[in-house]
Amino acid sequence: MNIIDVRSARILPNRSYPASRVIVHSTGETDLAAVIKFYTSPGAVCPHYVIAHDGTINKIVPEDHVAWHVAYAPGVAATYGKGLQEWQRWRMHAGKLDKSAREGYYAAWTARWPGLEDPRTLAGPRPNYMSIGIELQALEAPTRRIFTDAQYAALVELTSDICKRLSIVPSQRTVFGHSDADPIARSNDRGQWDPGALFDWHTVSAGVGFSSANA
Ligand SMILES: [Zn+2]
Repeated sequence: MNIIDVRSARILPNRSYPASRVIVHSTGETDLAAVIKFYTSPGAVCPHYVIAHDGTINKIVPEDHVAWHVAYAPGVAATYGKGLQEWQRWRMHAGKLDKSAREGYYAAWTARWPGLEDPRTLAGPRPNYMSIGIELQALEAPTRRIFTDAQYAALVELTSDICKRLSIVPSQRTVFGHSDADPIARSNDRGQWDPGALFDWHTVSAGVGFSSANA
């Protein structure tokens, strides 16, 4: 693994109990220098790692510190609390939460999580305290393959290593995406994106060694 240490300037708490999940994200932003600059600035949210297009792993926050990569907006959290039928009618539209999700908007999510009512249960009661966050640098012009092969390979290697070191048993419940845990917030007009419905979970789960439904 090619790991570069680019430490966040933010003062972050020590982890009070071991991480039990790995949460995968897309930066959304394609400019790596801008992404790193943002994540390492004192007041910003940050993941533990950012994986660049060439597979280089930028280490932003040590694993024994809490990083800030998952948080529920109060309105979104309250919407999940209303139950599956109700929350699936809502989505983010032009930056606002509204009741405009058409039939099938969450089809990929539902296919991945049959029987799951509340996505918040995936991330647990204290999401950042319970997880390691890995961001993948978004592609400028994504095709159906939304990240590079080098990124998938680095993600597989890093996730395997994290699971081994932190005694996390890899499964769909312990290695998942931000859009799995917060599908309303991590969506836009085209659907879920962080890492979203086009993310290749088969490559990751086969590489790390667990079974996972693709979206
Ligand atoms: Zn995210």
